[in-house]
Amino acid sequence: MVKCLNNEITVEELRRRLEIIRENIRTAALSGGFDPEAVRLMAVTKYVGAEAVLRAVEAGITLIGENRGQALQQKLPLLPRERLEVHFIGHLQRNKAARVVRMVDMVESVDSAALAQELEKQAGALERTLPILMEVNIGKDPNKSGVLPEEADRFAESLRAFPHLELRGLMTILPLGATQLETERYFSQMHALYVDIREKNRDNGCMDCLSMGMSGDYKLAVKHGANLVRLGTVLFS
Ligand SMILES: *Cc1c(COP(=O)(O)O)cnc(C)c1O
Repeated sequence: MVKCLNNEITVEELRRRLEIIRENIRTAALSGGFDPEAVRLMAVTKYVGAEAVLRAVEAGITLIGENRGQALQQKLPLLPRERLEVHFIGHLQRNKAARVVRMVDMVESVDSAALAQELEKQAGALERTLPILMEVNIGKDPNKSGVLPEEADRFAESLRAFPHLELRGLMTILPLGATQLETERYFSQMHALYVDIREKNRDNGCMDCLSMGMSGDYKLAVKHGANLVRLGTVLFS
């Protein structure tokens, strides 16, 4: 799926869009009884080149997400890495894990024990701790990766065996075509799961991150407790 977004977008236009998005986030958080200040906004940069990412940084973006290791490798040398937090958000194959671990601050898409084991190995080799999110397939969509919701707690427990991984929270991508009602139900189920797992207070990471909501559904996600939204289209198109 190749989407061609506007690589020519200006800093002023990005600033204008960010202002509207932040206002939407504020309204949505308050409507759900959540703290608007706690919600972080990620620019998903997979549709655009490094120049557009640089303009987004100038417009105030401090967190970016990419779903391909190769694209990230091409863009990162052109970006002010020290001013940016970089998350990997795509399906990660085990043979690509070593390269990705070297480039990112967090992997949001940990969806299997095999991947967790490989990330543990690579983080250990670099003598670093890698913050991760567990990707949950909340809609039980057979076309999507992610841990099934009923297995999430067991998976969180199993991650304690990996000293170089720090479980910081949960991430989800909803099934395509979910109705508003289904969307709200999925987000609210995700929030409940996040709170449940967080309350176990396991010793392998402080759970502070619920990453859900994309361009089409970020307001509903924030209303139901997301504190990280991942936005591509609404920012760059
Ligand atoms: C592409 C992508 C997004 C952003 O999607 P938009 O609908 O363009 O905002 C968010 N999360 C993940 C995992 C993605 O791959």
